[in-house]
Amino acid sequence: MTTCVRMQRYGLTVLLMTALATTQAVPPDETRTSPAPSARTPILAIHGGAGVARGDLDAAGLAEARAALETALRAGHAKLQAGALALEAVKAAITVLEDAPSFNAGRGAVFTHDGRNELDAAVMDGASGRAGAVAGVTRVRNPILLADAVMTSSPHVMMVGEGAEAFAKTQDIALVDPAYFRTERRWQQLQRALEAERGAQPQAAAPSGDARPYFGTVGAVALDAGGRLAAGTSTGGMTNKRYGRVGDAPIIGAGTWADARCAVSGTGWGEYYIRAAAAHEICARVRLRGDDIRVAASDVIDREIPEAGGDGGAIALDADGRVAFPFNTPGMYRGWIGADGVPHVAVFREDDIALPDAR
Ligand code: ASP
Repeated sequence: MTTCVRMQRYGLTVLLMTALATTQAVPPDETRTSPAPSARTPILAIHGGAGVARGDLDAAGLAEARAALETALRAGHAKLQAGALALEAVKAAITVLEDAPSFNAGRGAVFTHDGRNELDAAVMDGASGRAGAVAGVTRVRNPILLADAVMTSSPHVMMVGEGAEAFAKTQDIALVDPAYFRTERRWQQLQRALEAERGAQPQAAAPSGDARPYFGTVGAVALDAGGRLAAGTSTGGMTNKRYGRVGDAPIIGAGTWADARCAVSGTGWGEYYIRAAAAHEICARVRLRGDDIRVAASDVIDREIPEAGGDGGAIALDADGRVAFPFNTPGMYRGWIGADGVPHVAVFREDDIALPDAR
C-alpha cells in the first residue's frame, strides 16, 4: 500500500469517526439530557410571592417575613456549599418557607371558598429533565417533599388529592391534621373575599390590599457547582378558589420549569400563567432564541401576562448565574444568595436589591 493510499484511508476513518461523534453528541432534545458538568459558583434565588403591597403588613409582620426569607436562603445555600445538587437547595429553601406562616404555602396557606387549605407544589431538575408535582393535597406538611418523591420514587409526574396522600404514606412523608395549616390572617382574608363576593360585583375590578387573591406563594431556583439548574414552587393557590381548582404552580411549564440553561418559578394569577405556559416560555426564549434571561423573563411576565389580563412575578436563573426578578405588582418577596453567603432580600418595588455578578 502506498503512503498516499494509507493517508487517504486514514483521512476517511477520521472523517467517519468525527461524523459519528457529532451525531452522538447532539441529542434530539438537548434539554432532556445532562449537560457536561462545568464548574460554577453556586447561587440560589427565592420568592415568597407577588402581590404584597405596603400597608398589607405591620412592621412585625414584615420583619418576620424577611427573616424567613433569609433563613430559607441560608438553608439552601448551605446545601450548595456542601456540594449538594441544585434540587436539594431548592427543596431546603422551600421547606423553610412552607413552614413559615408568613407565606401562602404549607402553614399559612390561603383558604378555598369552602374554608379548606388545598396545596399544590412542583419540582423540576434541569439536568435530567425529570419533574414531580402534587395538587389539591390537604394533609401533607411539606408538599414540595411529596412532589420530589413523585419525581424520584414513582413512574409518574403528577399526583392529586387523596391518591397523592396515599402515596405520601408509602414514602414516610409527614402528614398533619388539616388544622395545622390554618392561620387567623388567612381566615380573615377569606372572610373579606366572601363579603366582597356577596356584594354587587363578584367579578369586578381586581382586589387590592390584603384582599388580593394571591399573596405569598413560594419558589426557588438554584445553580449548583456542577452547573446544574433546578426549580420548585409551592402554594395554597388563590384565596376563595373553588373546589378542585389547580393553579400554575404544580403544572410543569406553567409555574415551574428547569432545563439545562434556565430555571423559573412563577407567582401570580395562575390561570394566566397556565395559558401562557409562562415558565417554559421564558426558558424557550433563552434556549431557542438565545435571549438574555432578564429580557426573556421581563417580556413574558411584564408584557405578555398583563396584555392577556393577568399579573404577578417570577424568578429566573440561567446557567451562568444571571438572575431575574420581574414582577408587575406593588411588591414581591424575593432574595438571592451567592458566593459570599450573604442573603440579599427585598419586598417592595422600590426596595433595592443588588444583582449578582454572572460568570
Ligand atoms: N400562582 C398561584 C396560583 O395561581 C398563586 C400565587 O402565585 O400566589 O395558584
